[in-house]
This record gives sequence, structure tokens and C-alpha cells, in this order.
Amino acid sequence: MKLSKLAIEIAESPTFALNEEARLLKERGEAVINLGIGEPKNKTPIAAMLASGAKLSSGEIKYTPPDGLPAMKKAVIRYTEENYNRLVAPENVIITNGAKQSLFNIFYSILNPQDEVIMIAPYWVSYAEMIKMCMGIPVVVTPEDGTFVPRFEDIERAVTSSTRAIIVNSPNNPSGAIYPAELIDKIVNMCEKKGIFMICDDIYHKLTFDRNVAIPAWTFAKKDIEDSHIIVVNGVAKLYGMTGFRIGWVVAPRALIKVMTNVIAQTTSCVSPLAQAAAEGALNGLQSVVEALRLQIQNNRDVVLQEMRTFNGARLIEPKGTFYALPDIRAFNNNSVEVSRFLLKKAMVVTVPGKEFGMEGHIRLSFAGSVKDITEGIARIKWALDPTSPNEIYIGDKKMIRDWM
Ligand code: PMP
Repeated sequence: MKLSKLAIEIAESPTFALNEEARLLKERGEAVINLGIGEPKNKTPIAAMLASGAKLSSGEIKYTPPDGLPAMKKAVIRYTEENYNRLVAPENVIITNGAKQSLFNIFYSILNPQDEVIMIAPYWVSYAEMIKMCMGIPVVVTPEDGTFVPRFEDIERAVTSSTRAIIVNSPNNPSGAIYPAELIDKIVNMCEKKGIFMICDDIYHKLTFDRNVAIPAWTFAKKDIEDSHIIVVNGVAKLYGMTGFRIGWVVAPRALIKVMTNVIAQTTSCVSPLAQAAAEGALNGLQSVVEALRLQIQNNRDVVLQEMRTFNGARLIEPKGTFYALPDIRAFNNNSVEVSRFLLKKAMVVTVPGKEFGMEGHIRLSFAGSVKDITEGIARIKWALDPTSPNEIYIGDKKMIRDWM
């Protein structure tokens, strides 16, 4: 069968693939622990359920404007004013089917074939594939070994006449790093000077721990929103744990939003009004749900740090935000795909190989789930990899003995 060369070359999403593998093992009755996918366990906020329920009861579930329902856009404008200290116009906002569609649509709308987009390693898996789908070229800047924060000079050196954008995801999936304000300031400055888009994937911007905060790029902008080249992506998936509603949004210069609106109008038409009503409900409802989620995840992070302290050989840079940790496992094996496979086979724990994020020798652990899963999951990983850990463990009701070292 002849299919598109471009489409065939798109890699499978490793997190979804691993999730499916875990689901099948669970179905077979195996005691699998999923530290793979990043999905908070909380229920949908009540304000979102009520708003979506009311919309459904109205029976008026029709097409919406391709750039989003005016009421939802208004909620995003308010959110932007409150959280970013920026007053933007409805023409600066578009609502999408998740932040994933926001990003794809942005790449599609700004890239010509062979244009380059700078990504900072470790980077979220989907960026590179999306850029390639839009005929662009991902260019990776890797921080020095032992840190997840890049040097500005290395970013500057990666810029060529073909550079169209840089994508900045802070707090970062998969490392949990927050980039320092000085670095953000320098990137904003560089982008303004050179006319490069700075795509801020802010999906985790409120999920920060202790006193750490992610300073928004706009704080450092010298130009106004129409000329600054800053594009902000956000959504309800991580903010409210509303992953299944598929609502994201973009705040950007009007000219870009206009093109993105046409792309949506000609492809998916619009976003479901049920999902938009839910997101609007969440944005306009009690914001204590966000803080409750943040505190729960921060507690989970503390559990991870505690458990990792007795993991001889693994090195972890403390996550400052998100719900991911990216320990260095090179003391056991450089090949993270092999390590992840081994952990699933021997310890029934799902992890994601760092190689997928451009950071070989590491594995990503999601701590969005329960404390029980985190503690037990890390205990199993230690048992499987660390020869100084006890060599017996229970996996489900099976007593297992480590007999490979
Ligand atoms: N950006 C990053 C960094 C993410 O981790 C994710 C979700 N895993 C997304 C974007 C996509 O979010 P959504 O579910 O809203 O499409």
C-alpha cells in the first residue's frame, strides 16, 4: 500500500504506546504500576462539570466560531490578565483541541519547508514530530552534562538564517526544570531583535514547587504583543487535570491567530462547545482546585525525593515543577530504551526512556499518580537495578527474587 512518506516517518507517541502496553498487562491481571503518562488523578472540577452539563441540557450543541466561543475567549483573556499581567484582545486568542493542536497549528502557520525550530533538550516528545509534519527541521540545543538548563550562548549559536522559532517549555516536561529569569529575558531579547518566534509552552506554569515560579516571557518584552513575536500556549489539561476535555489555547499576535483560525476552520471546524463550556467553567470557577492539585503534586514530588535518596547509583536533579522526574541511570546502563523495557518486564513498572526526550541515559518517572504507586514503583525500580537494595520484593501477591546480578 502506498502511503505518504512524510506521514509514515512520524514516530509513534511513546507515552501512549507504553500506556497501551500497561493497560494490556493490567487486563491480564499483572500488578503493573504506570509511572509513564502524565495525568493527574483528580476528578473534574465541579464548576467545569456544571457548566458543561448545563450546555448539554440546553440541547444547543452546534458549530462554534473556529477561533472559539466568545465566552471562552473572554475567560482566557481574564486568565491572561490575572496570570500574565497582559490585557489582550479577543483577536489575540484562539481556542484549540488541546495544547497539542495549538502547537501543531502554530508550527503549520509559521513554518515554510526547511525552516528551523530550536528545541531545548530534554524536550517534550511531540515537538520534533510536529515540526517534521510541517516540513520544518528541529534543531536541538543540549545543556551541559549534569544540568537541564541550557547556556544562552549555545542557544544563540544554534540560530541560523533559517531559524523561525524557539520553543521554551518551563517548567519542563520531562525534567521538571524551571529556567532562570535571566535566561528567559535573554531569549525574549534575542527573539525580538531577530524576529524569531518564541513559543512558550506554559502548560505547567502553575505547577511549581516551594518558592519557585516560572516568570512569563512577556515580563521581559520590550515590544507590544503584536510585534514581540511571543506566542503563549496553555490549556486545562494539567492546570485542572482536565486531560480528556481537550482544550488548549494560544495568545499571540493577531496576524498569526488569523491564519491559525483559517487552519482550524478548514480542518476541524471548531472545538466542541461542551468542552469549551467545561473549560470556561473551570477558568471562571473556584481556583482553589488548582492550588489543591499543586499541593498534592508537590507532596508527591517530596515522596519521590525521599525514595530516590536510597537509590544508589541513580542521580536525580530535583524537579522544581511539573509532575516528572528524570533520573540519570547511566550507572546501570546507558541505553534508556533497554532500561525501560527491562523495568516493565522484571518489575512491571512503566517508565519512559529519556532517549525519547533527547536525553539518553535517563528515564522519566511521572509522579502525577498516587503516593502508593510512586513508593511501590520506585521500590521496584531500585530492586531491579540497584544491587545494594534488598533482593526480594512482592509484586502483587508474587514474591520475586532478583537473580540477575
Ligand atoms: N505540552 C507539553 C509540554 C505537554 O506535556 C503536554 C501534554 N503531555 C502538552 C503540551 C499537550 O497538552 P494537551 O493535553 O492539552 O494537548
